[in-house]
Formats: sequence, structure tokens, C-alpha cells
Amino acid sequence: MADVSDDRAALRAELLTWVRQNQELGMEWFLDEGAPAEGPVSAPTIAPAPSSAVAPAANPAAPPAVQPASATTDGKDAEFQQSCESFVAETLELIRRHAAAPGSQSSDATSCETLEVIQAEVAACQSCSLHESRANTVFGAGDAAASLVFIGEAPGADEDRQGQPFVGKSGQLLGKIIEAIGFSRDDVFICNILKCRPPSNRDPQPDEVAACESYLKRQLAVIQPRVICCLGRVAAQTLLKTEAPLGKLRQSVHFYEGIPVMATYHPAALLRNPDYKRPTWEDVRKLRALHDSLPA
Ligand code: SF4
Repeated sequence: MADVSDDRAALRAELLTWVRQNQELGMEWFLDEGAPAEGPVSAPTIAPAPSSAVAPAANPAAPPAVQPASATTDGKDAEFQQSCESFVAETLELIRRHAAAPGSQSSDATSCETLEVIQAEVAACQSCSLHESRANTVFGAGDAAASLVFIGEAPGADEDRQGQPFVGKSGQLLGKIIEAIGFSRDDVFICNILKCRPPSNRDPQPDEVAACESYLKRQLAVIQPRVICCLGRVAAQTLLKTEAPLGKLRQSVHFYEGIPVMATYHPAALLRNPDYKRPTWEDVRKLRALHDSLPA
């Protein structure tokens, strides 16, 4: 008969392994207040979508918005809900004004273009010097008709090896962020501004962005998302052609080719700095609320 103390030791070892694996994956990122995780975590629960007062064009087919389990009783969260509703109302007004402005609509959409056609062009592209050092192009992945698109700056080493966007630890964390707001990776589209890895993961250069940007524009013209989320400072600054800091860019909505754009921290930054967890959780909840308030 097995020794009880052996069983306990084995159980303890398994639990410690589980905790370590989850901490390495950053799974607890949205379940605390931004501090490093100390106690047990609770799963998010589904809450009603934003009120109709700020959601004039709510999409009835969209899954409901997501809040953490403690949201309804947490004072801070009530405060956040209010600021979220104000954000959505102000943003909808901004979008309405932007849509009414002359020349604000994208003109790149073509009726016969498909992602497969663009992907084949990207795979053979030699328009900038990055083609010389790449192992694979990284076109992007997800739903070709996604209502939400996440955009990073460029592939890293894992992505270059596998030809897929956001794999590795930060990619796994992005998957959990996406799930936390009620989507799966298959529901959204994930891509980068550059389709080839810059050497040593350096920032994209202006000539590389200029050479590669047409692919992104064409991808977005095919997908026609309701909203875009830029992941990290470099992606946001590059896409929006601004030098404004990420902290400022996170505060409001922007536009790219007529599509509303929000910005938040890159998942890799969350792995390095737990203080970004709380603001990122707030950003993505605002993103979800805005998404649900926009017409399909
Ligand atoms: S980064 Fe873009 S433009 Fe440069 S080679 Fe790759 S696909 Fe072509």
C-alpha cells in the first residue's frame, strides 16, 4: 500500500509544477489588480453587454461582454464601468464625426480580392531587405471576416520559425487576453505590420513599413473589421504614424483607413511588468464594449 506521505509529496510537486507553468504563461494576468499573483484565481464570468444608452448600434449576434467575477461588487470596477460607458459614448460620437468627414473612408476594397491572393504575394515578396534573413513570412491568422483585428509590429524568432503570428509565450498570453473578453483566436484576426522578422527583433524601419504596408491595407480591406487593436508602442506609433507615447495613444480612439483603432500594451510587456496587467485589462474591456457598440 502506498505511503500517504508519498502521495502528499507527489500531489504537492504536481501542484507546484502547475502553478509554475501557469505563472510562466502569465495566465493570472487579468485576474488580479495588477500586482503579482499571490492567491487562487477565479474565472471570468459573462455579464450583460453595455447599456443601450451608449450602444445605439449594438450587434445582437455578438457574444456578451465579459467582466471578472468580482466586477459587480467591486467599487473600483463600478467606477471603471462608468468610465467605460463614457469612453464608448464619446468614441461613438468621434466615429460618427470621422465617418462624416470628407475622404475618411478607405478606398482600397476590391470585390475579388481574397486573403489567399495577398498571402501568396507576401510569400514571394522581396520588396525590402528583410526577405534576405527571413525563414518564413508571417502573413497573419484567424477569421477572414473577423470583426476584431489585433496588430503587432513584426514577427519574432518563434513566429519566423513557424510562419505564424504571436506564437510563444507572449502569443499564448495574447490568446488568454482574447479569451478573457469572450473571443477565441479563431474569432479574430492577428497579424503584424511587417510580414518578415527584422534582425535581432529591432524596430521596423520606415522603408520597410513603406514597402510592406500595402499588404496590411489590403488585408484590412478584405476583412473589414469593426475595430483594430494595436499591441504595443511600436505597432501603434507605426500604424498611426505618430510619435505620441503609448500612454497617450491608449486614452482615445484613432483611425486607420477609416477603421477605429485602439492601442494597448504588448503581451510581452505584461510578461515583463505585472503593473501593466490592470490597465491592459481595462483597455481590452473598453475594446470589447466599443466593438459591441459598433454596427456589424
Ligand atoms: S517585410 Fe514585407 S515588404 Fe519586406 S520582404 Fe517581407 S513581405 Fe516584403
